[in-house]
Amino acid sequence: MLPTIVLVGRPNVGKSTLFNRLTKSRDALVADLPGLTRDRHYGRGIGGDKPFLVVDTGGFEPLVDSGILKEMAKQTLLAIDEADVVIFMVDGRNGLAPQDKVIADRLRKSQRPVLLAVNKTEGMQRAIVSAEFHELGLGDPLSISSAHGEGVRDLVELALADF
Ligand code: GDP
Ligand code: MG
Repeated sequence: MLPTIVLVGRPNVGKSTLFNRLTKSRDALVADLPGLTRDRHYGRGIGGDKPFLVVDTGGFEPLVDSGILKEMAKQTLLAIDEADVVIFMVDGRNGLAPQDKVIADRLRKSQRPVLLAVNKTEGMQRAIVSAEFHELGLGDPLSISSAHGEGVRDLVELALADF
């Protein structure tokens, strides 16, 4: 069995962009429309010489309790159950959002190892941008740019360190 990395975060933080970079495929749609990728998407990647499976989730809006968003949250919870490691993505340009805290609580309850990735930090002061995400209580935030590839290799290396 390949180690499974699951990408979690509220819509529009850049999960599908990271998924595409990791899988170098067109399996996941990337769009400006929040929540376009509604289901789980699976892809294969390689980190160093370690193959892994990566799962893109459609977003996580646990504050909204109806319809399609509820279904997306369900898919995300199912994906977390399948995870060996979760990469929890937040948006360094938007800053800490209320939903981020709700997701962080769910992840802590899941007992899965979690890496906190602060995305969209290209051209920004990484230490400053990531500081406010410490309060999520998920360890040191890692600054990345999915779009530009910055920090992605280190992130994957850390995610796979125990495999
Ligand atoms: P998802 O909803 O979490 O899957 O987010 P997407 O991957 O669809 O990305 C949402 C938006 O953020 C798109 O417009 C992306 O181009 C943009 N985006 C993703 N990663 C980055 C990044 O590293 N830097 C910047 N500036 N924008 C990004
Ligand atoms: Mg997406």
